[in-house]
Amino acid sequence: MRLVDRRERPLHDLRISITDRCNFRCTYCMPREHFGPEHDFLHRDSLLTYEEITTVVRALLPTGLRKVRLTGGEPLLRRDITTLISLIRKAGPNLDIALTTNGSLLKRHADNLRKAGLNRVTVSLDAMDTHVFQSMADTQQHSADDVMEGIEHALAAGLGVKVNTVVQKNVNEEQIPKLADACIQRSIPLRFIEYMDVGNTNAWVFDEVVSGEEVRSILEQHHGPLLPEKPKHKGEVARRYTTVDGHEFGFIESVTNPFCGDCTRARLSAHGSLYTCLFSSKGHDLKGMLRMGANQAAMGLAIRSIWLQRNDRYSMDRATAEKKTEKVEMSFIGG
Ligand code: SAM
Ligand code: SF4
Ligand code: SF4
Repeated sequence: MRLVDRRERPLHDLRISITDRCNFRCTYCMPREHFGPEHDFLHRDSLLTYEEITTVVRALLPTGLRKVRLTGGEPLLRRDITTLISLIRKAGPNLDIALTTNGSLLKRHADNLRKAGLNRVTVSLDAMDTHVFQSMADTQQHSADDVMEGIEHALAAGLGVKVNTVVQKNVNEEQIPKLADACIQRSIPLRFIEYMDVGNTNAWVFDEVVSGEEVRSILEQHHGPLLPEKPKHKGEVARRYTTVDGHEFGFIESVTNPFCGDCTRARLSAHGSLYTCLFSSKGHDLKGMLRMGANQAAMGLAIRSIWLQRNDRYSMDRATAEKKTEKVEMSFIGG
């Protein structure tokens, strides 16, 4: 059953935020002044249950869903996440199931995640030096060493691993070669993400964006020329380059080189709304339908009609977009 939106884009990927809570307070995502002790996080009964999430996944399988990514907030904070992974694996034996994590709890969970049917983890890591790491993540509890240990356990468990780094001007550019060395040593692809204007709280300004091109030039000074690779498939988010030794770096240039034309992602928030763009201000309530007894077929029809209406291309229109519109926070909708 072919399903495409108003710009002929299929729905291949579902990102599922399973919690809006996090043990970090990255300044570009959950600044502490907005996500402090008084912040009203979702209560347990507002979260979609694992069965409800699986019903949504099942509903999307016939329309061409290929990949599910669990995210948050910090997804490893949610209890029994392996139960959810097993349920999704059972629903879609051929689905690519991935998880995005800050890595702080990965050491403890890696083995069981793999056993439950997870294929891959993307670990966010912005710095190797403790003072930069702790200042960006606004935490004193963890360091890059904890994250690297988590990565080692994930590799040993047989999970695919990638590392994602957000680069912010005058904050962590000097960490780029150190992160590259750590990933080269372990043969892990490293991807650099341009700092984005997600949510309403990170006080984003364009001047703090370090473009993919700038990062490539820093890398080339340390690792020699970078050669562009052909995309592996349509809709590939990262532009990939390799060193002459064959090590891969990716660049997610959402600001300077947006890729809305190929965007095949929908997002399910922790409280059960479907968003058709990372920069949406409003989602479509699926939880209400699920709790009124909607079955898989009814969910399928509802999502189908939402996707058929989809026309989003925020990043392509960023320069002219209406600045006053409230956007949903990334920790809530899932990065
Ligand atoms: N807590 C997990 C983590 O950090 O990997 C998963 C959720 S986090 C919201 C997902 C991804 O979004 C992370 O790689 C993070 O670096 C990225 N992210 C958050 N805020 C961002 C921003 N303003 N610009 C670019 N990427 C951002
Ligand atoms: Fe937490 Fe991830 Fe956001 Fe950092 S980027 S505050 S780890 S959700
Ligand atoms: Fe997709 Fe929206 Fe990002 Fe464009 S801005 S790539 S439509 S999520």
